[in-house]
This record gives sequence, structure tokens and C-alpha cells, in this order.
Amino acid sequence: MIGWACLWIVAVRCQAEEEKPLLFSPVTEMPEWRLLESHQGTITRAQFEDRWRRIYDPAGVLARYIRLTDEGVELFRDTAKTQALFYLRFAQGGGQEEKVVSILSCVPEKPLLGKVVCLDPGHIGGDWADVEERTFRIGRDRPVVEGELNLKTCRLLAERLQQAGAQVVWTHQGFEPTTRLRPEDLYPEAIQYMLQDVKSRRFPSYSANGLIRWNAELLFYRTAEIQARARKVNEELRPDFTLCLHYNAAPWGRAGRASLASAKRLVLFAHGSYTADELAFDDQKFHLFQKLLENSNPEELEIGTAIGKEFKEKWGFPPEDCGGAGYAHATGVSPYLWYRNLIANRLFYGPVIFVEGPYMNDRTSYSWIQAGDYEGSRLIGGVMRENIFREYADRVADGVIGLFRERQKRSPAFTNYSP
Ligand SMILES: [Zn+2]
Repeated sequence: MIGWACLWIVAVRCQAEEEKPLLFSPVTEMPEWRLLESHQGTITRAQFEDRWRRIYDPAGVLARYIRLTDEGVELFRDTAKTQALFYLRFAQGGGQEEKVVSILSCVPEKPLLGKVVCLDPGHIGGDWADVEERTFRIGRDRPVVEGELNLKTCRLLAERLQQAGAQVVWTHQGFEPTTRLRPEDLYPEAIQYMLQDVKSRRFPSYSANGLIRWNAELLFYRTAEIQARARKVNEELRPDFTLCLHYNAAPWGRAGRASLASAKRLVLFAHGSYTADELAFDDQKFHLFQKLLENSNPEELEIGTAIGKEFKEKWGFPPEDCGGAGYAHATGVSPYLWYRNLIANRLFYGPVIFVEGPYMNDRTSYSWIQAGDYEGSRLIGGVMRENIFREYADRVADGVIGLFRERQKRSPAFTNYSP
């Protein structure tokens, strides 16, 4: 069993939740291009180019795989542009509205009435916390298990959203996996995964058996689990938006030993920023097109910005700088909100706001977590604070509820209704 160390070695500055996607594994679902047919003729060439460059691919790597004309864009599997995957016909008039106008609640104290909000507490936790490498312990302190912190915070967040009128749905609510697969079901895929691109991948130093096991576990808790959650979101829950909630972790000092750091920063992710490596894969190209056409970006930016503002005003933690990470770029609308291509925000349909909360191994946040879910306020790092779960949930809830309240105020229908 490896510790967290291996994971945090790759987690430079922003938390690295995933590596390369799988090309051949049956765990990855084949893209269904026909699902994009309903978007034919809905956006203009200018809208396509704006979204492509600004959100998904600022380096313009996709140009290697597309043929662009005023009439449409043809997407190819290969850079020689011989194997066509999909053709999108452009709208010749004004195209789609840039912002999807949503129906607003008319009840002043329930700004989220009529909205379905999906909560996705990151990771599984429970018996799976070791396998998913999201737990650590310092000395005789209480172990810190990220999956449990996420769920605890989401429960408080759910109460707040429900009070504001939202219908809250969940990708999962306990410490059991959503996928029916288990690591031992994924050994053949693990071997296949290891054989792909062996040279560039960083493996911990294990025996061959240990390596297969480690990769099968990775496929289980990362790929299979998040795919199962995506099926639930896309086929059953169909929320207006999803909040993926996590606690962050800074790289450990010395390899293999958990230690505390000073990392009082916060970051949120909207979907985007595909890397050149990712764009070589058919499924990544499919999801880029799917996300670009469904146009969930404006909502991700507004909700992400609203939550970032709460973090800044109430906690004052500075934003994370993911600029040098190579897999993220700035949204330009909030310093806290970055574009990043993660499995969850790629596979879940609709707007997905990915919130990385306080660093679990930041000195102050660690003692705040160790203090547990106490009543009232206590002095934490020189400031009176409520317990960390309550405060984190309230920052997110206040951001979301505040945004919808603002929208209500701006809406003419709302003004007419309440004199
Ligand atoms: Zn996490």
C-alpha cells in the first residue's frame, strides 16, 4: 500500500485528480456522436471559434484535427485529417443566445425554487479511503479522510440549498462506491493501461503484481466510479447544475511522510483547458464538442465567481495560481476560477462547478479539521471561526443563493410580483 506521497508528487500547486485518459479500455465509453446531431445549425462560426479558443483550447491544438469553413467544422481522428468523426453545420443567422435564460423563482425567500442542484462529494471514503489515497494521519491525531470531510460539508450545504427552495440530488451519499465494479474486476484493463505509453507514465516502484493492483485501483476509484456517477447525473438526476466539493492537499515535504505546510489558498474549476495529449483521444474530442455545444460555460462562470467572492470576503484566503501547471488556464472572470479538464466536469452534463476547499495539510486548516464539528465559535489561527464544515458549506451556499437572489432582483417578472 503506498501512502499519499506518490499522489502528491504529481500534485504540484493544483491538485492533480487524473492523468491520461484511456484509449482502449472498455471502462471508457465509446463516444456516441449521434448525440450531438440535435445541435446542428445552432451556433455560428464566430461562436464556435470564440468558445473553442477562450474556454477549451487556448493553444489552438484542435486546429490539427479540424477543417473549418463558414459553413461548418469537420472533426477528424487524425492529424492527417483522413478519418472523419463528426461534422457540425454552423447557423447562418444569429446563432444561439450566449446566455441561456433560466426560469427564476418568484418567491423572495426561496430564490432556488424550481432548481435541481446535484451535490457530488468528492471521493468515496470509508473502507475505500486507503485505496483511493485520500487519507493521512499525523502522529496520534485523528486520521483525516477527505471523502468524509466532503460528505459532511455537503450535508450542511444541502440543508442551506433546500431552505432556499432547491431540490437537492446526490451522486452518492454514503461511503460505498456508485460503480458496481471493484478493483479485482479491472485487472485486464489495468494491464492494458500499463502497456500504453509506458515510458512517460510515473509508476511507484512495485513488483509487477503490485503495479497491476495499483493500476486496477486507480481505474476503479477514478475512472469507473466517476463514470458511474456521470451515468446517474446524465440519465436520472438531470440537475440544473452540479457542485463537486473537495478539500485540497499541498504536496508533502519529504516523500512518503505526511507533514503540514503553509497553504492557505483556494481554487475553483470550470470545465475547459484540454491539453494536446488529451485532444489526441476520440472521447476527449467528443466531450469538448458536447460541452461547447451544450453551452454550460456561462453558468459555470457565474456560479464559480459568486462562490469565489464569498471565499475572498469571508475567509480572505488568496486564490491559487495554476498558471504554470500546464493543465489549467485563467477564466479571466475571477482570480479563484480556472479552466480545467477533470473527469467529473467533462462527463457530467450541464454546468459543473468544481470547488477545492481548504488544504487539509495546511497548518491552520489542519487544526480546524482536528477541532471537529464543534458548536458555536472557537479561536482558529487567531480568528473566531465556526467549525470548518459549517463555514465551508456556508461559503458555497451563500455564493449560490446570493447569485440567484441577484437574478431575481434583476428580473422584471420578479419586480412585478413583489411590490
Ligand atoms: Zn479531492
